[in-house]
Amino acid sequence: MPDPYLPKEHHFSHRTGWLRAAVLGANDGIVSTASLVIGVASADASPSAILVAGMAGLVAGAMSMAAGEFVSVSSQSDTEKADLEIERKALQKFPEEELEELTQIYIERGVEPATAQAVATQLTRHDALSAHARDEIGITEIATARPIQAAWSSAASFSTGAALPLAAAALAPEALVTPVVAVVSLISLAILGWLSASAGGAGKTRAVVRVVFWGAAAMVVTGLIGAAFGTVV
Ligand SMILES: [Zn+2]
Repeated sequence: MPDPYLPKEHHFSHRTGWLRAAVLGANDGIVSTASLVIGVASADASPSAILVAGMAGLVAGAMSMAAGEFVSVSSQSDTEKADLEIERKALQKFPEEELEELTQIYIERGVEPATAQAVATQLTRHDALSAHARDEIGITEIATARPIQAAWSSAASFSTGAALPLAAAALAPEALVTPVVAVVSLISLAILGWLSASAGGAGKTRAVVRVVFWGAAAMVVTGLIGAAFGTVV
């Protein structure tokens, strides 16, 4: 096996943005739909009522994920644009002060003053706005927010996750809806946790235990509430 600390080591952090969003969406879809189906099933609902509830949960969850993600990413994108506009104007009006500012940033990061001056001068000549965006504000091209894409992908990943417990509920024998949905969902959560930990280069067992534990906790709680509610109504 190659030494992971060789100069060509692999890094994973650049992948975690979209991956985290997709895994989070799918996790949410599995946990919320499984819990919903189990809650309704525990209240002694008919098979068709269980499926209607699950389907409504899928659509409602996907829409709410999309709307929430769109709003949050849009506001992040607006902030980034406003910051870049301020920076663009500052670079036009005060080029010398901005060059000095960039030099100071590199000095604070540990570069010798003369070298910092040279780096800042060359980067300013090359592309001043990108240099300030990256090293002063912290905006990189990769992280630039895309609201529509974020909304679409979180709705899609939520629906994909939600489809698993819903399919399990549709295919399970009437008397076994709760255990089948619970088992299918927990296995799906475990696989998802394992895949995302592998792709992110993190500890796999811990990720799987964490996601399965919280998923099971959500299902138990809604199951109990559904059962209690079912006897009252
Ligand atoms: Zn600046």
